[in-house]
Amino acid sequence: MMVKRSFFGLAKPRFAYETLKDKPEAVKIPVPKKVTLFLKSPFEPNPLVQTGDKVKTGEKLSLYKGNDEYVTSSVTGTVTSISPYTGDFGKSYTAIAIDVAEAEEQDDAFKGEPSLEKARDFLAFVPGAPSLNSLADPEKPIKTIVVCGIDKDLLMATNPYIVKARTKAVNDGVSILKKIAGADHVIMAMPQYLMKDAGAVGGASGVELREVSDGYPAALPHIMMKEMLGKVLPEGNRPEDMEVCFFSAEAAASIGSAFYEEQVPVTKTLTLIKKDMSKILVEARIGTPIRDIFTACDVSTEQGDRIVLGGPMTGVSVYAEDYPVQPDTDAVMVQANADVSLVSDNPCINCGDCVRICPARIQVSMLVRFCEAGEYEAAADEYDLYACIECGLCSFVCVAGMPVFQHIRLAKYELDRIRAAEEEEMENA
Ligand code: SF4
Ligand code: SF4
Repeated sequence: MMVKRSFFGLAKPRFAYETLKDKPEAVKIPVPKKVTLFLKSPFEPNPLVQTGDKVKTGEKLSLYKGNDEYVTSSVTGTVTSISPYTGDFGKSYTAIAIDVAEAEEQDDAFKGEPSLEKARDFLAFVPGAPSLNSLADPEKPIKTIVVCGIDKDLLMATNPYIVKARTKAVNDGVSILKKIAGADHVIMAMPQYLMKDAGAVGGASGVELREVSDGYPAALPHIMMKEMLGKVLPEGNRPEDMEVCFFSAEAAASIGSAFYEEQVPVTKTLTLIKKDMSKILVEARIGTPIRDIFTACDVSTEQGDRIVLGGPMTGVSVYAEDYPVQPDTDAVMVQANADVSLVSDNPCINCGDCVRICPARIQVSMLVRFCEAGEYEAAADEYDLYACIECGLCSFVCVAGMPVFQHIRLAKYELDRIRAAEEEEMENA
């Protein structure tokens, strides 16, 4: 990560996104012995798929009656367990473990002309995790689609690699997305150095190419909405609320290759960021344990090292090497014990660095006090909790080592839960 600091103490530090000048060879991780897939629904007894069931590569696995969530098997094999899994902030998932068979068999249920219905029915769990349901809300039609050839965090090069290495698939996916969504306007958002590669995409698909600045957090949706579309997202709104939907280049490539090859893609591309900050592009089946990637890329971990899913600003720590690659895992970062920045329970010293760097101009030092104290309503009503665009810069610069961003994320998650429960109660009253 390149950090440019100014001579003037009060100027903000500048963090530049990774630049991928050449097209590196991605390391292909062997198919693992076992994969684990996370369904975004809490475990329920008597699922439709049972332990001992045989599954094929690309097969859609729906677990619960009346629930539209599904996963796609990334391998051929036998289901060995279906169990509850608790993720970040206590979110509930169902974990499906599959032992991999020697011979691979491809499921053939996915075929036919591109349509939104078919995409929603089969492609929600593909690499890049496309938000296809956002295209189908009649109350919020999508008029603009933005396909991003830049990653959301620093040090990673997953989506630039996809633009360079899978140009045709991105191209196909962009055309299909435009058609099935009925969008008036499609934008390919690229860093300047990728414009030439992106030209092959934009030119063929009749989409508009737009440059994204190389300074973090220019690639976050809130900033792109403002810079590219001149739309300021009101507090708490999502881009979909303003008729805009974002997809990664990898999500577009998955959709493109799925319809042209009549196979649901199951291999995720991600950036492995090693302890010495060197990066490797890898390709692994969804559900592959991170340990397998480490083994294939000569990464060893020791007591106190940290494994982060995602980049340095917004990534989330995981505590086991058997944690599996998911459809949205764009990077895995390993930090050596000595480089792990310690979080502390030291109090805020009012230095103001978080306030100065916050792109949403929030009084972060005040906001975090209310979040820490569990005063979530006050944090939202008086200190702009929902104006936070989740860039993580405040945590990065905090001299007291406070986990500022984590407090903010937890506050949003808890308040969303409280408000949803209250709404449900009112509806049932
Ligand atoms: S994460 Fe921190 S710096 Fe970024 S927008 Fe939110 S409060 Fe501001
Ligand atoms: S950067 Fe940390 S110590 Fe400084 S004002 Fe913000 S929360 Fe307080």
